[in-house]
Amino acid sequence: MLEMDEAALRRQAEAALLGLKSAGIDWLPQGPRLARRAAVPSSAATSLAAETLMPPNSLNARRKELEVLAAEVKACTRCPELAVARTQTVFGDGQPGAEICFLGEAPGADEDASGTPFVGAAGQLLNKIIAASGFKREEVYICNILKCRPPANRTPLPHEAENCSGFLKRQLDIVKPKYLVCLGGTAAKYLLNSTRPLGELRGQFHEYHGIPVIVTYHPAYLLPHRQPAKKKEVWDDMKMLLTKMGRPIPQQKTEEKPAG
Ligand code: URA
Repeated sequence: MLEMDEAALRRQAEAALLGLKSAGIDWLPQGPRLARRAAVPSSAATSLAAETLMPPNSLNARRKELEVLAAEVKACTRCPELAVARTQTVFGDGQPGAEICFLGEAPGADEDASGTPFVGAAGQLLNKIIAASGFKREEVYICNILKCRPPANRTPLPHEAENCSGFLKRQLDIVKPKYLVCLGGTAAKYLLNSTRPLGELRGQFHEYHGIPVIVTYHPAYLLPHRQPAKKKEVWDDMKMLLTKMGRPIPQQKTEEKPAG
């Protein structure tokens, strides 16, 4: 076989990538698979991909990575009891690069029907907490420990959380939130691998793979028929987070109060 110099290989690879791009393919997987298959030295191949296509860590590339992961989740049957009962998986809501990720426990009936986390009564209250903290819902990321609804909304079982934990880790690696908010004791238990009660976990920062984490009450617990008085504690938790983030604490207007 004729030896080609690096410049010729580079031109040839660039032409091939431009061809792919003009055919509408604007993203290729990065890393060892590309390097092994490429006919060019791996460093040249990856830098070509970066220059000609999308930079591997760009928001667009990360959006595509999330889509690929969501498709993998959609096909998952690791928890047979959940897989047969679900209408659909509920992957997450928001964009990579969101500064805060809110983490609940599992989809309920409304989420199972819509495919989006936190859209039912608890979701409406979460929207108020987000707005009262000075964010738009589109600016934050929202997901759950489990991507499938447990039958009759029962609490996720340890083996189900374990089955889903790899998906959550990859999801958070792609989104790269700077802060995590665990909504409720179940989210905290499985994210932080802790058996401590929620009351003990509140009011301080924890860590998940280097990301600061706070723990607060689940919005469903704050609904009128449960413990609406606990909204004050949730607001205290959000103020602690906003202070750490260096963000202003919004004045509570009546219509924005998470208590609303
Ligand atoms: N409760 C959760 O924990 N997650 C949802 O998505 C909805 C309700």
